[in-house]
Amino acid sequence: MTQKPLQCDVLIVGGGPVGGVLAGLLTTLPLRVVVVDFLAPEKALDKNQDGRTTAVSWGSSLIMEKTGLWAQLLPHTTPIEEIRVSQALTSGFLHFNQEDADGHPMGFILDNWRLRQALYTMMEERENITLIAPASVKSLECDASQGQAELTNGQLIQFRLIVGADGRLSQIRESMGIKAYTARYDQTAIVTSVQHEQPHHCRAFEHFLPTGPLAFLPVKTHQSSVVWSLQNKWISAMESLSQEEFAQELERRFPYLGKIELISKRWHYPLVMTLPRRMTTERCVLMGDAAHAIHPIAGQGANLGFRDAEILSGLVQNSARLGLDIGEETLLKRYQRQRVRDIVSMTCMTDSLVRLFSRSSQSLAFVRGQGMSWMNAIAPLRRRLTRHAMGLGL
Ligand SMILES: Cc1cc2nc3c(=O)[nH]c(=O)nc-3n(C[C@H](O)[C@H](O)[C@H](O)COP(=O)(O)OP(=O)(O)OC[C@H]3O[C@@H](n4cnc5c(N)ncnc54)[C@H](O)[C@@H]3O)c2cc1C
Repeated sequence: MTQKPLQCDVLIVGGGPVGGVLAGLLTTLPLRVVVVDFLAPEKALDKNQDGRTTAVSWGSSLIMEKTGLWAQLLPHTTPIEEIRVSQALTSGFLHFNQEDADGHPMGFILDNWRLRQALYTMMEERENITLIAPASVKSLECDASQGQAELTNGQLIQFRLIVGADGRLSQIRESMGIKAYTARYDQTAIVTSVQHEQPHHCRAFEHFLPTGPLAFLPVKTHQSSVVWSLQNKWISAMESLSQEEFAQELERRFPYLGKIELISKRWHYPLVMTLPRRMTTERCVLMGDAAHAIHPIAGQGANLGFRDAEILSGLVQNSARLGLDIGEETLLKRYQRQRVRDIVSMTCMTDSLVRLFSRSSQSLAFVRGQGMSWMNAIAPLRRRLTRHAMGLGL
């Protein structure tokens, strides 16, 4: 017997940070949303699955407020009151502080697993969201009036709009025939949590080393989340180090927080940039890493995705209010048009930073150091960069 198709307005494939936030934004409207994720909830919520934190920009915190989730997440975040950028072996530095940010925190550090947990609880509790997991899309058909997906568990879903929020290796992007440009950085990010002797005073540090950028993101008073993006040739040597030896390597390269001790395991993330040729096809849009995977050097990947979600939900809301088809081409084109500038400028900015700081020539290091000092001295420029990082536009 064939199963009765499940009807919805929006089918979101991928219940990660971006797909989850989109679901939260859409379900403040009278819309029926189905979220499909190929990870079983117990696996998705396992703290060992993802050891990262996300630097949620000030602008993204305002988006999360609209989902109704921010009030419960805020007590579990650490505000970023200052960002200190420096480079090994040179004296140049760049400091951003709250004065550059109209007195607001520039952002907040939030554990990825905690965001996941809040999103999954929301998906279970809101009546107009159905979460189907573990499952993925087996086949997909779209026409002028609707689309239909068959899931790997046999369930049929009919929708008006499908959103591919299934990460940088997006299966939806592939099944829609959207080609993507991928650049491999030959770097892997090692992520871990550390306890340190000195307090961080709500400062985030980005320290550029000849081997790659090393970031300390403030968590509890004496704890930080570390993201060390290393050239791949160093990874196996680092992997062979014990926890104590790895902590010593961190301390040797970044002595400003005193004695360091690892308090979690180490996770590895290969770093690539992926940019598809387009973000839409018939009844389908891409968002989050499926639409733009960037290097974490500036902690902006998820923030870009949250802005995708905000723009799409606004367009869908307007269309739904007027009784229009939320999967029609004009809306999709508008979404792409409104997102392209932000995505391309952020992708180019992060890509240029990675390339600029990956070159180990001494004269270039001197120029970079001077460049940072000059930028540090020009308050309007600093403020502009701060607003950009806060997700408030250029
Ligand atoms: C080391 C590191 C540090 C970072 N730090 C920051 C930071 O501080 N700030 C920031 O803004 N960004 C940061 N980022 C980037 C950020 O992690 C990503 O941009 C963000 O996770 C993208 O979210 P997403 O929901 O689009 O994709 P993902 O997080 O990849 O989630 C995709 C979801 O889709 C599901 N899925 C995948 N394939 C399928 C399928 N075929 N069918 C169904 N479901 C599927 C997955 O299970 C997952 O739940 C960092 C990235 C790295 C690597």
